[in-house]
Amino acid sequence: MSDDLKKLLIVMPCYNEEAVLPQTIKVIGALLKKLIKGKKVHADSKVCFVNDGSSDKTWALIKKAAAGERIFSGISLSRNFGHQKAIIAGMYDTDADLYVTIDADLQDDCGVIETMLDKINDGCEIVYGVRDSRDTDTRFKKYSALAFYKLMKLLGVNIVYNHADFRMMTRRAVNTLKQFPERNLFLRAMMPLVGFKSDKVYYDRKARPAGETKYPLMKMMGFAWSGISSFSIVPLRLVTFMGFFICFLSLCFLCFVIYRWSVRGTIVGWASLVTIITLLMLSVGSLLGGTAIVESIFMWDGVGKMAVDAISMRDYPIIQAYVMWMAIIYVLVNLLTDLSYRFLDPRIRLGGAKQ
Ligand code: UDP
Ligand code: MG
Repeated sequence: MSDDLKKLLIVMPCYNEEAVLPQTIKVIGALLKKLIKGKKVHADSKVCFVNDGSSDKTWALIKKAAAGERIFSGISLSRNFGHQKAIIAGMYDTDADLYVTIDADLQDDCGVIETMLDKINDGCEIVYGVRDSRDTDTRFKKYSALAFYKLMKLLGVNIVYNHADFRMMTRRAVNTLKQFPERNLFLRAMMPLVGFKSDKVYYDRKARPAGETKYPLMKMMGFAWSGISSFSIVPLRLVTFMGFFICFLSLCFLCFVIYRWSVRGTIVGWASLVTIITLLMLSVGSLLGGTAIVESIFMWDGVGKMAVDAISMRDYPIIQAYVMWMAIIYVLVNLLTDLSYRFLDPRIRLGGAKQ
């Protein structure tokens, strides 16, 4: 066996996959043996199944496979961490020259791993598996996924269209990824930030042969939002803009109310009622607009750039400061509302004279 062959590690996150795992073990095992036999990868190459806190027989199946053949190994997480963390656990736990991450449900075509190897041998550090057709996905899944990729692009996030978590990476790329301090992992947006020469391999996404998706609607939306909020400050900017716009409108309206009241052009009770409503609008606007302060601090110390690059903004204590600031604004506006009510109370100022 030539020593210059690369040691490959195939990482498969598994969460309650007992229905499909026996078939997956067969398919991926046969593929790895073929690659080893064809001297495409080192004989010490392995498949690492990561049990992500499954409650079914997944871990028992992994242990059985690992006991039966040395090409299989497994690690079990203490609870369900989500498949991004399961992938990271698998990759960071075992040393290898090349890493492949792929779902355990055989939806991604593991046959293209060989093509990925060729691209790595041509000098690529990362090869993305890209879904060519989504015919087997439900209509909802297909269109929501496409809308998500389009939205991410629109928000300025560098993401490979139709690529999920099927990719091959060299040790160099993985070592670079390890330097990212990101905790809210969204690997498909992080990998392009690693840089280096990369390429794509296209394949048709198949239907799940067994078991069901572990991403029901709410979980999928949560995952998508985590990606958007971790990698783009555009939503923050929109909120800021909305906040200032609401503030501006409510201040204009407040001036109008005070003007009408001062020329006695209001009926009893109108001025105080509308002032309270306007102040509430002002408070909402200033709370939203306050994100500008957070954003400017991010931009000022360069964190904004880093947030766009890699780091989740939610990991910063400044967010806690912002929440405090919102609380202060809330109390202040409540006080102002109360004062304005007393000041403009119709029975004291307007109604009092007339009633
Ligand atoms: N998965 C995981 N932890 C989770 C959810 C999913 O490890 O909390 C694994 C799952 O076993 C599968 C992969 O992540 O190998 C993708 O999940 P799934 O196939 O359910 O997602 P879909 O293809 O429906 O988007
Ligand atoms: Mg799947």
